[in-house]
Amino acid sequence: MTCGGAWRSACELLRSAGVPEAEVDAGLLLEYACGVNRGDLLAHGDRPLDAGKQEAYFGLVEKRCSRIPLQYLTGVQNFMGLDFLVDEHVLIPRQDTEILAEEALKHLHDGMRILDLCTGSGCILISLLHYTNGCSGVGVDLSGEALALADRNAGRLLWRSAGEDDTAALGGTYESCSFRESDLFERVDGVFDMIVSNPPYIKSGELDGLMPEVRDYEPQMALDGGGDGLTFYRRIIGQCREYLRRGGMLLFEIGCGQGEAVSRLMEQAGFLEVQVIKDYGGLDRVVSGTLGIMP
Ligand code: GLN
Repeated sequence: MTCGGAWRSACELLRSAGVPEAEVDAGLLLEYACGVNRGDLLAHGDRPLDAGKQEAYFGLVEKRCSRIPLQYLTGVQNFMGLDFLVDEHVLIPRQDTEILAEEALKHLHDGMRILDLCTGSGCILISLLHYTNGCSGVGVDLSGEALALADRNAGRLLWRSAGEDDTAALGGTYESCSFRESDLFERVDGVFDMIVSNPPYIKSGELDGLMPEVRDYEPQMALDGGGDGLTFYRRIIGQCREYLRRGGMLLFEIGCGQGEAVSRLMEQAGFLEVQVIKDYGGLDRVVSGTLGIMP
């Protein structure tokens, strides 16, 4: 079988399994399993694919046909220009969440302390630390497996090589990022300059209607936001005062339609300058606010 032939039959298999953008996934899996990229496919699609590679490729295509997300098969997802390791214990980082990271970066200054609640793969906290200087952060999650992966991501992405700074073989940055198993603030100590969170926010009753990739394979505990989807916002807003310095910022990712409710909760809790920020699709995506001086 040629590379082109393999790609074409993979497209057909994926299409008939209802996989969206079948051609893209067939191409990405071919590159992942066989090292044949899009350019190779176009220029040398008539080259033969050896039996071992064929087997590996169609094994992955079959898994993708059962709607396992592509990223759980390749093990990576890019977020904020950084490649994060992902597995079935963490939510796959979404492009929409980059809005939260970008908004947080606008307000971070050197040396600030950041707390990331429901950190998952660690994508938010690690990118904030990657793109700032001298900041430190703590990421918490209920899942020990997620935290182990977040820690590996920090090790890979926050490592400053000796070449970048001759005076230090190991950078301080990695040491300034730690992860802890905690139910929100339960095992958190200290006061932070910024708290960020992309908590679970899907209404429990709407989980069944999600696409199979999300519903059947992404961790339910990363998705389920309770009956009205707002459980985590209520808990975080209710408890954060003790852990956020006065004048510090709280930033959330939210689901569409939650902007008003979350803003109101923040205002009632004494947050000022509460803003709802839209994503590139024009949907409310982030709510931010500054903790006021008065209780
Ligand atoms: N903070 C992680 C992310 O944005 C995980 C979010 C979650 O588990 N709800 O990808």
